[in-house]
Amino acid sequence: MFADNVEIKVKAGKGGDGRTSFLHEKYRAKGGPDGGDGGHGGDIIFLVDHNLNTLASFRNHKSLAASDGEMGGKNKAHGKSAEDITIKVPVGTMVYVGDKQIADLAEDGQSQVMAQGGRGGFGNAHFVSSTRQSPRVAELGEAGEEMQLRLELKLVADVGLIGLPNAGKSTLLSVISNARPEIADYAFTTLVPNLGVVAIDDDSFVAADIPGLIEGASLGKGLGDEFLRHIERTSILLHLIDAHSQDVVTNYRLIQQELKSYGHDLINKEQIVVLTKIDGLEPAKVKLIVAQLKKATKRPVYAISAPAHKGLAELLRAVAEILRQHRSQPESETPFVYDLSNTKLPEAAWEIEKLDSGWRISGQKPERFAKRTDFANPDSLARLRDILTKLGIVKKLEQKGLKAGDRVEVAGKDLIW
Ligand code: GDP
Ligand code: MG
Repeated sequence: MFADNVEIKVKAGKGGDGRTSFLHEKYRAKGGPDGGDGGHGGDIIFLVDHNLNTLASFRNHKSLAASDGEMGGKNKAHGKSAEDITIKVPVGTMVYVGDKQIADLAEDGQSQVMAQGGRGGFGNAHFVSSTRQSPRVAELGEAGEEMQLRLELKLVADVGLIGLPNAGKSTLLSVISNARPEIADYAFTTLVPNLGVVAIDDDSFVAADIPGLIEGASLGKGLGDEFLRHIERTSILLHLIDAHSQDVVTNYRLIQQELKSYGHDLINKEQIVVLTKIDGLEPAKVKLIVAQLKKATKRPVYAISAPAHKGLAELLRAVAEILRQHRSQPESETPFVYDLSNTKLPEAAWEIEKLDSGWRISGQKPERFAKRTDFANPDSLARLRDILTKLGIVKKLEQKGLKAGDRVEVAGKDLIW
């Protein structure tokens, strides 16, 4: 129910192609092959950072792409590998591809490769052997992984909105966040907590409209476990007081009393007092009430009108600043974990399938080699055949009846046998 969801596209970089080149030296008729390997394509890595609490930053970055590796150079020069892209995500981010969960990023500092950059192809210097002195073979770089991810985060509130019924809690939440709480001009409207993601400047946080301790209690409704969790985790409470009420200080004290008797450490949380509904009031009058509240509460006091968007930015910046201070306090020491378990693909098997029009070879190894093969280059094709032979695939194909001229498909490319 209270979850933040975003869809993003990630694309890792392609590996650089290997180069085919030969040493040119004076006084030497035929130099040796000196084509270097291509560089790695950049990975896309997620890194868990406890300073984040929402997926709001992805709203403006729905597509992430890492750069490609550079081609190998002459003189066996290795092509430059591309930089990895590391993206910070909040603790508790779950990552899905379709319905399948591929990551559960639960620990601060944990990182995981989401899309792996392609390996660079080998240059022709790589393929020298006693029988092959001048290979004209170089590999293509592998493509980088590319996929559509869905990120999901269970929201936990950093900020709780408290106050008497009708103080303006639901209205404020609806104006500053993506939540659409029920708003009505009578008490007891809000009996389920509403959560919303609030974005201010480059920061974001989660605010919860905490339906009256008073409202719920007076109706004999207990607040569920999930709700208690939200209350306990909040770092700061906004204590809303209607500027039109008879006695703002008495109202403030009433809620403080409720907080105390409610327990769960609520009374010890930091509070900002928010005077609401100041539209329609003389500025001098507002000033007076603010001064009165400051004196009585010894807390910061802000005056706002949610519908008129008055005083909101100042209030939200103050909240964001307090949250930043809370977050920068050192967490309990968690080891830095690299979890690459999901990025390793099974190497093992390959399969041969008889098609009407020929054969299809599938399997990670043969497909990877095929993808790195430049099919326009006969030497490269010869090498691919060598590899298929070494893997035992050719033998199996022949047993099944492979003939010269048959079409053999690997990784979507066709080889004519
Ligand atoms: P809650 O019980 O604390 O959630 O209060 P609501 O947000 O439901 O607001 C109660 C009533 O006050 C509604 O009729 C709102 O339209 C009205 N209200 C809330 N904020 C303001 C405000 O800043 N100015 C004015 N004029 N009315 C407001
Ligand atoms: Mg309400």
